[in-house]
Amino acid sequence: GRGPVLVQVPRAGYLPGVACARCRTPARCGACSGPLVLGQADQPPRCAWCATAYPSWRCGSCGHGTLRATVVGVRRTAEELGRAFPGVPVLLSRGDAVRDSVGAEPALVVATPGAEPVASGGYTAALLLDGTALLARPNLRAAEEALRRWLRAAALVRPGTMGGEIVVVADSSAPAVQALVRWDPAGFAARELAERSALHLPPAARVAELTGAAADVDDLLMHADLPPDAEVIGPVPVDDDGARAMIRAPRAAGTALAAALRSAAGVRSARRTGGSVRVRIDPVDFG
Ligand SMILES: [Zn+2]
Ligand SMILES: [Zn+2]
Repeated sequence: GRGPVLVQVPRAGYLPGVACARCRTPARCGACSGPLVLGQADQPPRCAWCATAYPSWRCGSCGHGTLRATVVGVRRTAEELGRAFPGVPVLLSRGDAVRDSVGAEPALVVATPGAEPVASGGYTAALLLDGTALLARPNLRAAEEALRRWLRAAALVRPGTMGGEIVVVADSSAPAVQALVRWDPAGFAARELAERSALHLPPAARVAELTGAAADVDDLLMHADLPPDAEVIGPVPVDDDGARAMIRAPRAAGTALAAALRSAAGVRSARRTGGSVRVRIDPVDFG
């Protein structure tokens, strides 16, 4: 049928991740499950959490030995679409200029995730761009977040019985893409939970992230009376003179972990020496 078409474009600025060059599975550390990152030109890939180097990395899924950086695709601009479809109005909706709704007449509606206008009568189609880059972000919740965005956009499209169509530009074998095709977010969530349980990652485990000057992170770790099952990963250098450490604990020890960090921070602040350390428990955006 005729009507508006939604084009969902990810915001620019996602960190490039590293994935298998053949099967595109994101590369993770065998020691701690952290994301691998590429360093200087001659350096092997290394873990962003524990700094383990992988000079002879092999893909855990397909056995391939070559990595590739998954750079975010060039953002397809509304201008490009306008050139490709002359005569069709192009409407923009994004973070700083959100449209609430659009009419039922034919138009290309280019929107960033979360800024999709509602179309009266529904969209005839949704085109979800750059899915491959979204799925390859070095972030534990990348797939979960991608699926959430896709479902949100797809819900604005007319039902298939009325001619509604959804096109996602991503590897069709990716679990998040399969979940979209089958409209099965619950199955996807169950699968994610099982994977994270196996890897001891949230929400199956608690993870605290400490960031600050290297000396301060060391000092906080020294003062923290961590629960017995807690595992310290790092610290590893980040940025200029900063450091980051991760502490992973079983879910049942999460309260004890938070209490230990709070009391160590209290001791340090009462002593009034050293700089502050940022502590985040189960940060939503970590690798
Ligand atoms: Zn592979
Ligand atoms: Zn690691």
